[in-house]
Amino acid sequence: KIPVAASIFPVADMVKQVGGDYVDVFSVIPPGASPHTYEPKPSVLKKISSAKIFFMIGAGLEYWNEKFFKSAGGGTLRIVLSDGVDLIREKEHHHDNKAGGHHSEDAFANPHIWLDVKTAEAMVKRIVATLSSLDKEHASYYEEKGSAYTAELEKLDRMILKETENFKIKKFVSFHPAWDYFARRYGLESAGVIESVPGKSPTPLEIKRIIENIRTHGVKAVFAEPQFNPKVAEVIAKEAGIKVLMLDPMGGPGVKERDSYIDIMKHNLKVMKEAMQ
Ligand SMILES: [Zn+2]
Repeated sequence: KIPVAASIFPVADMVKQVGGDYVDVFSVIPPGASPHTYEPKPSVLKKISSAKIFFMIGAGLEYWNEKFFKSAGGGTLRIVLSDGVDLIREKEHHHDNKAGGHHSEDAFANPHIWLDVKTAEAMVKRIVATLSSLDKEHASYYEEKGSAYTAELEKLDRMILKETENFKIKKFVSFHPAWDYFARRYGLESAGVIESVPGKSPTPLEIKRIIENIRTHGVKAVFAEPQFNPKVAEVIAKEAGIKVLMLDPMGGPGVKERDSYIDIMKHNLKVMKEAMQ
């Protein structure tokens, strides 16, 4: 089996769906951890070095990878799945600019591309091409598995399009800007983000604005996420008189109802329906 590393669980699942019997994939970021703050330990980095391929999102998500690949040498093929994707960039940037220097473009890009199922299809295409060129002997196997899986993703995409079209409320408040690609694809709009930069709590003024937006747009729920502390979301929801619901952009192996990419998306759709239909 080809040893493969994937930075996040949704990508690891896509690799598994395509690679089947010939690929042994592990995800770097463990369930429950936020990729924005998680830094792999040396033992995990060693495991990535021993993989033939490392599939990552890019756009700044695996902020630790440049340093790692510089020191690890060229044994692992690095595939950046956001290459060629029309990235959403922050119009206004809220990052602390302590050094006062120039930010790389990545600092402004939103990395949550996998939450648009159409983009996930493009990611799968890239995974098929990579595995097929590295393991030519099983290329037709990967292509067949890839086509079958893509057909399932197309079905999922159509289902989400159909369901979101019927949402009465199109605006939502989320914990961090994870749902911007989902919103772009499925005609929804963010009415506020609690942590525009992961780990940075909102100021009282920002909280006040979010609550105003909730009232103006009739938003029915604040979406928290299992990778983050829900406390601020709870405070806002209580103040606005609405509820907190959990969306999960990551899932994980063995996580109930969220242990495959497709199930993650179905679960999130179900939660959104509860607040937006
Ligand atoms: Zn995120």
